[in-house]
Amino acid sequence: MATKTKYQAIKGARDLLPPGTDLWARVEQAAREVFGSYGFGEIRTPIFEPTELFARAVGEETDIVSKEMYTFEDRPSDLPDFARGSFDVVKSANELIGLFRAGEIPQGSVNKIRIAQLEKKLEQWHSVNEKFQSIARTDQVLAGDLEDFGTTTSQVAFLTRDVQLGDLISLRPEATASICRAYIEHGMAQWPQPVKLYCLGPMFRRERPQKGRYRQFYQIDAEILGGSDAPGVDAEVIEMVMVFFERVELPGVHLELNSIGHSAPPADGKPVCRRAYVEALRAALEKVKDKLGADSQRRIETNPLRVLDSKLESEQAIIATLPKIGDYLCDDCAKHYAEVKRQLDARGVKYQENWRLVRGLDYYMRTTFEITAKGLGSQNAVCGGGRYDGLIELLGGPATKGIGFAIGEDRLILSLQEAGKGSAAAGRDVFIAWMGEKAQATAIAAARKLRDAGFRVELPPVEQKFGKALGQADKLGARYALILGDDEVTSGQWTVKTLADGKQEKVAEKELVEWLRKSFRG
Ligand code: AMP
Repeated sequence: MATKTKYQAIKGARDLLPPGTDLWARVEQAAREVFGSYGFGEIRTPIFEPTELFARAVGEETDIVSKEMYTFEDRPSDLPDFARGSFDVVKSANELIGLFRAGEIPQGSVNKIRIAQLEKKLEQWHSVNEKFQSIARTDQVLAGDLEDFGTTTSQVAFLTRDVQLGDLISLRPEATASICRAYIEHGMAQWPQPVKLYCLGPMFRRERPQKGRYRQFYQIDAEILGGSDAPGVDAEVIEMVMVFFERVELPGVHLELNSIGHSAPPADGKPVCRRAYVEALRAALEKVKDKLGADSQRRIETNPLRVLDSKLESEQAIIATLPKIGDYLCDDCAKHYAEVKRQLDARGVKYQENWRLVRGLDYYMRTTFEITAKGLGSQNAVCGGGRYDGLIELLGGPATKGIGFAIGEDRLILSLQEAGKGSAAAGRDVFIAWMGEKAQATAIAAARKLRDAGFRVELPPVEQKFGKALGQADKLGARYALILGDDEVTSGQWTVKTLADGKQEKVAEKELVEWLRKSFRG
């Protein structure tokens, strides 16, 4: 039963508890095995990065960057202890200005402005203070003068508090940006190409929590960087994630596929097919603007592709009449898409084309896909992926092909649990009920031996009456209880009780491990 405690997990963050965590471990193990069999290696990147990296890679205008990131100042640990807000504000302000001039706090344009404002306010403070001090000497202080002094002092304090003391860092909202940063930072372009990486771990987005949507959630992410952009790469990466879902027996897996053309500047003078499409889409949207909701109306200007994501019932019929990207693909993109589909067919991977599956960011190109599963309600996407050939270059690295996907592990687990696949395994294999000093020594040795053999063993730390011990064994979900009293120790014949049916039999000490192995196999 849940009890109300003073401290609770932060909204949108969850404790994952045993035995439920067994399923998480099993899913992660399956990912390691399947991805490993396709030549992927694990990468672990930091959980925070410079905010700037995500702003670049994910996009300043996206919801993720503009409102969902957990961002904070990474203050140097050896900053002086500013007496912020106290009467020492002027001293603090001067110290800060000194630190800025010495280059010890961020030098960006925002801080430049804030320091300039602070300097100006300090000047003002000095003149107010001078006046105040001279009146104070004559004992003629008026309420107005006092107020002036107070207000200016708090304005200095206020501006001091606004100065940025460290670079901005953010908890990662996704993994691709970090992995691309690592590719560049470690010169992975010099490694044999392509570099295939996967990564497991928590991501952070300040979204409104609901079923299947959390503020700390977990992704299983895989990326292929470098090498070729042949359609076979796209098909294989999709095959891999489908094999993984099959391995974990995810119910109702449904794959949707699209190509969104390309938008990087054409090196060879060929048309940039997505730009032509976005223009046609915008023009068509302008014509039906009045029939759209406020969000979509705004997006006509900012990012018309996102109108296609709309789930609003009233907009669906209108969206169906909009131009489709498929009719705008250039020859190269059309050929690439056709070949991805052919290769998926060759691999026996079933998919459904969905022309509305788009990604708003410029560097996403050609193949995009999304996978949904059963039992998740409205948050039913368990995996999103696509090709992003321009991203590494955008981050300052060499021109590099890239494709990858992210699986939402929380949703994957939810769907498995809904389908009854997450039923918890029994808590213990063996419970050792012992009584007497001699029996304790034997029980300790037996526990060690059984644990070495791979069994889950519970050994009570203090002596208990057999009746009580067996009750506890039952509660813990143990399959067998090993009963050890003086008689058993002397005879070397131990009593093994099957808790499900109460059956008891004698097993020789030497044969115990083998006996248990056989019974678990059978
Ligand atoms: P994205 O990185 O937005 O493409 O998301 C990839 C996958 O991560 C989605 O298909 C979801 O399964 C999962 N996901 C994204 N955001 C959340 C969230 N807030 N809570 C749980 N899962 C999420």
